[in-house]
Amino acid sequence: MAHVIPVWEIPSLAVKDAKERFPVRRIFCVGRNYVEHQKEMGGDGRETPFFFIKSEFSLVPGGGELHYPARTANFHYETEMVVAIGKGGRRIEPKRANEHVFGYGVGLDMTRRDLQQLGKDNGRPWDFGKNFDESAPCSALAPAAKIGHPAKGAIWLKVNGKERQKADLSDMIWSVPEQIAFLSEYYTLEPGDIIYSGTPAGVGPVKSGDDLQAGIEGVGELKVKIVPAL
Ligand code: MN
Repeated sequence: MAHVIPVWEIPSLAVKDAKERFPVRRIFCVGRNYVEHQKEMGGDGRETPFFFIKSEFSLVPGGGELHYPARTANFHYETEMVVAIGKGGRRIEPKRANEHVFGYGVGLDMTRRDLQQLGKDNGRPWDFGKNFDESAPCSALAPAAKIGHPAKGAIWLKVNGKERQKADLSDMIWSVPEQIAFLSEYYTLEPGDIIYSGTPAGVGPVKSGDDLQAGIEGVGELKVKIVPAL
């Protein structure tokens, strides 16, 4: 098929120990999925988690340099396990949800917290706070065929070598299979969809020059450096 402007590449993630990449279709993100993070965001720790969506073009495969984004003075990190869907489906039962997962990665759900708050205060969408250029760094994927389906294990973030987030995957309010089941009630999940599965407590701001190192036990690590705005 011919196009009137050049066609872009499909965003994709590396796969550990493989030459082939994982093409990314949509990015779903769960909000407030760890009790202590609900509390630090002003909740009571008993709310039902919910979802929002980022464009696949916000992906930063493998991390690296991240430009301080436009129009914010409060740029936050949120360390999250990323779940890559390899087999689509709808109305997926939690007990069969893992069969739909290709693999797992380490992601950062980068957030313009001030713009997100402005949206909350005015009952408006979160897009400008959450879905912007370079807002979704993600590591190479570790295939479930090799590492299984991690339901526990440490998730952590260091900023300039100092620990800022530290929790366990088992602290999630909605497990990964429950998230897949819930999402698949609303969307037909497709191969290539990925899910940012929520961040633990300890979110905070970063500035140009900061080095971020995120990790999940048994999954991998992700390094990001904040560089000056474009
Ligand atoms: Mn998040």
